[in-house]
Amino acid sequence: MNPETTTSTASEDVVIIGSGCAGLTAAIYTARAGLAPLVLEGGLPGGQLTTTSDVENFPGFPEGIDGYSLTDAMRKQAARFGARFKNASVKNVRFTTGAAGAPHTLVTDAGEIAARTVIVATGAAPRHLGIAGETEFAGGKGVTYCATCDGAFYRAKEVAVIGGGDTACEDALFLTRFASKVFLVHRRDTLRAADILARRVLENPKITPVWNTAPTAILGGDDGKVRALVLRDTTTGGTGSGGGERELPVRGVFVAIGNVPNTAFLGGALELDAAGCVAGRGPGGVHTNIAGVFVAGDCADPHHKQAVAAAGAGCRAAIEAVRLLGD
Ligand SMILES: Cc1cc2nc3c(=O)[nH]c(=O)nc-3n(C[C@H](O)[C@H](O)[C@H](O)COP(=O)(O)OP(=O)(O)OC[C@H]3O[C@@H](n4cnc5c(N)ncnc54)[C@H](O)[C@@H]3O)c2cc1C
Repeated sequence: MNPETTTSTASEDVVIIGSGCAGLTAAIYTARAGLAPLVLEGGLPGGQLTTTSDVENFPGFPEGIDGYSLTDAMRKQAARFGARFKNASVKNVRFTTGAAGAPHTLVTDAGEIAARTVIVATGAAPRHLGIAGETEFAGGKGVTYCATCDGAFYRAKEVAVIGGGDTACEDALFLTRFASKVFLVHRRDTLRAADILARRVLENPKITPVWNTAPTAILGGDDGKVRALVLRDTTTGGTGSGGGERELPVRGVFVAIGNVPNTAFLGGALELDAAGCVAGRGPGGVHTNIAGVFVAGDCADPHHKQAVAAAGAGCRAAIEAVRLLGD
């Protein structure tokens, strides 16, 4: 559905950009404070969690819950207290650098919106391999982008982690708690991770590095889940003597080649860190370099990438926005 195009003249008290765990939690708190926040849902209403079937680590659900139901419940909870939702994506922003509470302008695909406070909660997207089988086996069938979230589903199984940086090493080490064996597939012959992490990986008997190797396809078995990775030698291009493609039998493929924070639309209006995340600061780490503009969730935090962490940041950003508007 195309969002209707409107230009709002009155200034909103709170506009939340993004409807993942961070944005929806911020909506619950600002709505309960009587501020009737407007949530701009973006292209993925409910956020990344809607792409996973089993969430077992969000507090309060002893049997686990599927990601869609969890964020849908958050949305209903926010709506109950007066949060409003709009099917719109922000294309660019014009932030005011003057007094706190002076209106900022958000240019969306559904018109311009003025807001006294803005909470940026636009999340991030995991970088994909772009190989055959990746999409087919994502979402509970063996391909995953989050070891913390999904590691426990791979007890006593052989798995592969793709990558060679800090995240890949952390994921490989974490997975040794569950998996019987962890292959660390890296396209080079040395790890890019911090020395201490790399050393722990190389000393761990459950981790087998697979050097100079890149995955080219993910294969499924009769049960419709991952059964193997197809690998090619990066030094020979997968051709020639000894360099041909080969299969590595694994039941899980953990892709750890980085995350892309959804911050490009800001066009330099907020200070970003080297990874492209909004640089949070001040109380709760949710203030930005612009007064009245707050940040929460994965778009500001490349380290934790968990629903409950994003929700916590959304809560902090909301409390700071409420305080500013009450001053
Ligand atoms: C496959 C998968 C499984 C996961 N499993 C778990 C798990 O089991 N447990 C767990 O704790 N975590 C899990 N995570 C991580 C968790 O989903 C994230 O940490 C969490 O969703 C981050 O929330 P967020 O609100 O910061 O961002 P996101 O969930 O990324 O939401 C971002 C929101 O911003 C919107 N948006 C983006 N750009 C714009 C724009 N320009 N204008 C308007 N809106 C915009 C999007 O539409 C979206 O609604 C998983 C992640 C993935 C990918």
